[in-house]
Amino acid sequence: MQVKKGYTFVNWAGNIRHEVKNYFQPETVEEIVDIVRQHQHIRMVGTGHSWSDICVDDEAMVNLDKFNKILEIDHERLQIKVQAGIKLWELNEQLDKVGLALLNLGSIARQSIAGAISTGTHGSGIDYQIIGSAVISFTLVDANGDIHLIDKEQKPDIFHAAIVNLGCLGVLAEITLKVTKAFNLKDHTVALPMDDVIDNLDDFVQNTDHFKMWWLAPAKDIITYRYQRTQEPTNDSALRQWFKDVFLSVTIYRFLVWVAKWIPGLADFFNTILTSSYKKALHRVEKSFKVFNVPEPPLHRETEWAFDFKNATTILKEYSKLLKESGFHYNFIQEIRFTKGDDFWLSPCYHRDAIWIGVYCYEHEHWDKVLPMFEAFARKHQGRPHWGKEFITTDRDYLQQAYEKWDDFIQIKQSFDPNGKFSNAFINRIFSC
Ligand SMILES: Cc1cc2nc3c(=O)[nH]c(=O)nc-3n(C[C@H](O)[C@H](O)[C@H](O)COP(=O)(O)OP(=O)(O)OC[C@H]3O[C@@H](n4cnc5c(N)ncnc54)[C@H](O)[C@@H]3O)c2cc1C
Repeated sequence: MQVKKGYTFVNWAGNIRHEVKNYFQPETVEEIVDIVRQHQHIRMVGTGHSWSDICVDDEAMVNLDKFNKILEIDHERLQIKVQAGIKLWELNEQLDKVGLALLNLGSIARQSIAGAISTGTHGSGIDYQIIGSAVISFTLVDANGDIHLIDKEQKPDIFHAAIVNLGCLGVLAEITLKVTKAFNLKDHTVALPMDDVIDNLDDFVQNTDHFKMWWLAPAKDIITYRYQRTQEPTNDSALRQWFKDVFLSVTIYRFLVWVAKWIPGLADFFNTILTSSYKKALHRVEKSFKVFNVPEPPLHRETEWAFDFKNATTILKEYSKLLKESGFHYNFIQEIRFTKGDDFWLSPCYHRDAIWIGVYCYEHEHWDKVLPMFEAFARKHQGRPHWGKEFITTDRDYLQQAYEKWDDFIQIKQSFDPNGKFSNAFINRIFSC
């Protein structure tokens, strides 16, 4: 097993940098158990794609990059068993080769499956739940090093507590997931007047398998993405992919956000121009994971909250007013997505269909003001924060009343980890323990 001593962990966005005494990369369940038994404090880290300080620890960090195999593929039952360190992109590639696919995906696939499950990572589509909803069963190594097999039918309470687990119940080791036959997505992307889209939101959301929006504030139009699941053959051209997804979306976009960092007043102008380049609709059919995933964005900061979909229209109107009247220039896309409600105790979609609103900023001199401004807005509308993204002014009292099963989760946490072996500053802050 590889052990790095005196390791400096830096997350994807570069806003979290932390020194840890031991950084372990085990290759077997036995090695995971040994690490757990030999240390007082441990945090697991996937690929460090969280903006929050959720995965850091001083004593031991455990990374499962070398515990990343597909162990079983059952074509008949459409399920697979994997080691928890496998990345979503590895799953996309390996499943595609055998005619299978993940049920839904977010914007990128760099994350580990365990990291995505643990924070409630999600894609978009009002009939589709968070990525962790694909879990059928899993093994979890608790604070004593004991291995538990947790299955929805036999241990429903623990199962529903452990899907969005924030890494504080133990180490997810082997995970059995539902998959589906490989499918394509028919993509219809176009910029439309934002007010019209908000007024007809239900039509867009309910009549599209996977609907999401990108807003380049303060543009009057919003970019709408409508993805329908299809078995029609793919027809996207390699030239379009290179020009739009590599040259424009990566090279040119990075240059524009960098310029707007130095001359913030230009952001509004760039945003309006970029939005108008989407007035001509894009129609294409492509493999599901290639449509769900977008080109890797430049390093930036994010907060994202889930609100009750029942209030979506009001919230969207107030949110667009908030950003337009805030006096800040937003030098990055703002994202709006939708997911189906679920039963996972700490899921931001617990018992309600959700509209997710993300506020994203490239290196921003005003991020320290934008973040609390949006958090206050989100709390006013009873939002629940994405656990892997940033929130700094939201405390335990708010979270406790936002999550009906908060106290029940703490009881399960106590039973798996009575001495807080898997807790860190983030966990202690939100649970005040
Ligand atoms: C560019 C970018 C795009 C993103 N797009 C989306 C998106 O579209 N949708 C979305 O919802 N989120 C998105 N995210 C957020 C991201 O999906 C989550 O933060 C996710 O948790 C990161 O996965 P990771 O493997 O990097 O986990 P990490 O950030 O390393 O860890 C996250 C949590 O998982 C725990 N964990 C990791 N491994 C284990 C294990 N084996 N057992 C128990 N706990 C474990 C950690 O302790 C920690 O609590 C994005 C992030 C970035 C940087």
